[in-house]
Amino acid sequence: MAKCDEGYRCEVCGADVETVTESDLYLRFVLGEVPLELLHRLPERHLQCNPALAQYIVDPTFEPVACDGLFAKTELDPVFVATEERRVSRGYRRLLAIPTLGLTVPEYPLSVTPDGDAP
Ligand SMILES: [Zn+2]
Repeated sequence: MAKCDEGYRCEVCGADVETVTESDLYLRFVLGEVPLELLHRLPERHLQCNPALAQYIVDPTFEPVACDGLFAKTELDPVFVATEERRVSRGYRRLLAIPTLGLTVPEYPLSVTPDGDAP
């Protein structure tokens, strides 16, 4: 029966991704980077297991993640980094709220509204 177990295992560390609030895949879905039809086909990862994205989450409830190498935000343009921090942190707060919002999965992504998209 349980044929799709693998969809919930982190491809980086091999441990289960137990909730939507620790899922890198769902964060990217909320941000509009992953289309709904790919949500159940792409490998799952913990937020912390994808530092290239997680480094931009700035939130008191999230332990900061450092990303090394080419994509480290310390190596990138500060304006780009600030924009990413705002965008990804907003997505993260949305992710945290999902369990209490009572939404269906297609409603998870942040709507692209004029506010919040300012440069
Ligand atoms: Zn992991």
